[in-house]
Amino acid sequence: MPAGSSLSLICTTYSGKGDRLLGVKPMLAPARSIKRRFQLVLIKPSHYDDDGYVIQWWRSFMPSNSLAVVYGLADDAARRQVLGPDVAIDITACDETNMRVRFKDIVAQFQRHDGFGLVGLVGVQSNQFPRTLDIARPLRAAGIPVVIGGFHISGCLAMLPEMPPDLLAALDMGCSLFAGEAEDGRLDRVLQDAATGSLAPIYHFLDELPGLEAAALPYLPPDVIGRTIDHLGSFDAGRGCPFQCSFCTIINVQGRKSRRRSPDDVERLIRTHYAKGVQHFFITDDNFARNKDWEAILDRIIELREREKLTLRLVIQVDTLCHKIPHFIEKAARAGVTHAYIGLENINPANLLAVKKRQNKITEYRQMLLAWKQAGVITYCGYILGFPGDTPQTILEDIEILKRELPLDILELMCLTPLPGSEDHKVPWQQAGGWIPT
Ligand code: SF4
Repeated sequence: MPAGSSLSLICTTYSGKGDRLLGVKPMLAPARSIKRRFQLVLIKPSHYDDDGYVIQWWRSFMPSNSLAVVYGLADDAARRQVLGPDVAIDITACDETNMRVRFKDIVAQFQRHDGFGLVGLVGVQSNQFPRTLDIARPLRAAGIPVVIGGFHISGCLAMLPEMPPDLLAALDMGCSLFAGEAEDGRLDRVLQDAATGSLAPIYHFLDELPGLEAAALPYLPPDVIGRTIDHLGSFDAGRGCPFQCSFCTIINVQGRKSRRRSPDDVERLIRTHYAKGVQHFFITDDNFARNKDWEAILDRIIELREREKLTLRLVIQVDTLCHKIPHFIEKAARAGVTHAYIGLENINPANLLAVKKRQNKITEYRQMLLAWKQAGVITYCGYILGFPGDTPQTILEDIEILKRELPLDILELMCLTPLPGSEDHKVPWQQAGGWIPT
């Protein structure tokens, strides 16, 4: 790991003297008027491998869009001076998949500022929760306020009638839990509560889904993005998916209605990143084909590429019926999509029916894959093993059919997992009468 790339470091903002910074933005208020500096450290935790080592990469493959979203909201909160005109907010960001969390540096940073600040463990998924608790423990022991958010907490609180033991452990440690999305002034409230030493144990925002039209845009400093292969930036052009797959957690947290950013905002976001050398983006919509503004957004990106010759490249996620949407694949290719991630899931119709993936028609798979191939886009397909109708023998036979019949580029095999937040987790929980380990 290069020197200077540890946690206290990346970023940002408004130059905290004495803190190691990689990039400094202009001060928002005259330095003389700033009396205190609130330290906001945002960490996206990684997870443990089977031997208990933290999985880390010299360069990671995918950026964390949760980190980018929360960073963008925090940056906006700092500009609006939500903690008052005499308080600056120093934001640092760390994606643990490509950077070490340096506990001593964080504790020292907080000591220099009389403990004035907050550590946010963001975008935490179920497999990352044990690591998250291990990150929080020494920070809490040092008296640092910690808030944890992400799909694990949101999924549990959205679907389960009671708090599972790992969330209780986080509360016992004195961490605050954040469920839901942070737009609509919700992050402001958490920052204000942390600044006044009055953090609530639980922030529950699942009941109302915020609109994205006027929301602050996802952003990460180029130094953070630079630690991904291909310098891949990210943004969610929209959230929500209309379908009802029983293994899906997304619909139970982000809803089934399409909420989206405007084409103007997408253009602004792309231009901001492009000016800093970021030309490749992962659009993280779980199903970009069902973003109701997909066409206006792609048209805008096509304009940037074809009129202004911006060398943009995109990765998107779509469903298996996207080839039926007039012009979708053609426009995606013109907008610079190089890879399309597609949830193929299985080729056994009974299996698809069992998990309510009714929209997947195996008779359409070949035509859909050929359409992407014709457009010159690489297909990266997810395939799930362990459905009710799967046996070792049927899996081997299905793989042979896949090899013979489907023009796939990349196939990623995964085991069906009942993640907290999904119907597949909730039902056995109810049947077992309580917590089932995942
Ligand atoms: S299509 Fe994807 S995002 Fe939509 S419900 Fe199914 S798994 Fe979830």
